[in-house]
Amino acid sequence: MKRREFLKSLAAFAITAGSAPTALAATVVPPRPASDVIPDDFIKDYLVKMKHFNEPHPNDIYLDRELFPILKSSLNRLRRLQRTVGHGNFYLLNFDEALKIARNYSRVGAFTRRELNFLEQMFYSDGARFGFYGEKPLKHLTDRIKRGKVTKIPYSGNYLYKGQALETYRKIRRDLGDTVILTSGVRSVIKQFMLFLSKAYHSKGNLSMASRSLAPPGYSFHGIGDFDVGQRGYGVENFTERFTTTEVFRRLRDSGYLTLRYDYGNLLGVRFEPWHIKVDDIG
Ligand SMILES: [Zn+2]
Repeated sequence: MKRREFLKSLAAFAITAGSAPTALAATVVPPRPASDVIPDDFIKDYLVKMKHFNEPHPNDIYLDRELFPILKSSLNRLRRLQRTVGHGNFYLLNFDEALKIARNYSRVGAFTRRELNFLEQMFYSDGARFGFYGEKPLKHLTDRIKRGKVTKIPYSGNYLYKGQALETYRKIRRDLGDTVILTSGVRSVIKQFMLFLSKAYHSKGNLSMASRSLAPPGYSFHGIGDFDVGQRGYGVENFTERFTTTEVFRRLRDSGYLTLRYDYGNLLGVRFEPWHIKVDDIG
């Protein structure tokens, strides 16, 4: 999205999000800035939100309270599904396979009609509504990852797309040695769903807060090629800004051939992710 378009949608979003609930809408009318004038406050507000991504902010959008139990039951079913098929298979599992396996294994149990409606509704809702401005590389709930296009990376439990993603990762390993590790590779719509719903659950239904650190399902470029790297032995710190203090990050940055998908100060509504490698030639 171009900067100008982004600023326009940011303003539109701020106006919508700042509106009073429907019941109060008749009495409270928020001021409406001219469409081509973006008040500095919106930009300032945006930058503060990205810095404090993991906290609730005044105009954040929440999941309907009555849908919270469905979020919880869908999330738990996805977790049981992951335990049943194993983490590796779960990275590649598509929606239709998920439904079938859930039906066939009583320890998972079939998705209910309400859960399916919820998942469908979540998938097809516009990420910009809660502040995520990135593109949506996987457009359909049933999009599949072709097994023949990906390869398992030994000892990581993760997959990468053959082609540029794999070549880039190999080049990184050649340059940095085995101190650099693959922390997350290919993720199907189902895997992204589980991650996003888990984040939304722990954010108490705050979808804006969740989407500042995890792309909503369909919007993740892990679905088509991007991957995350970290420093061996650095654990979950690899997914914090502290990763920028590591030797691995310093050498990646100095290598000159890498680009980050969500760089510092990005206008996509996503926090700074110094570990997330952008792959242009998609799988
Ligand atoms: Zn990532």
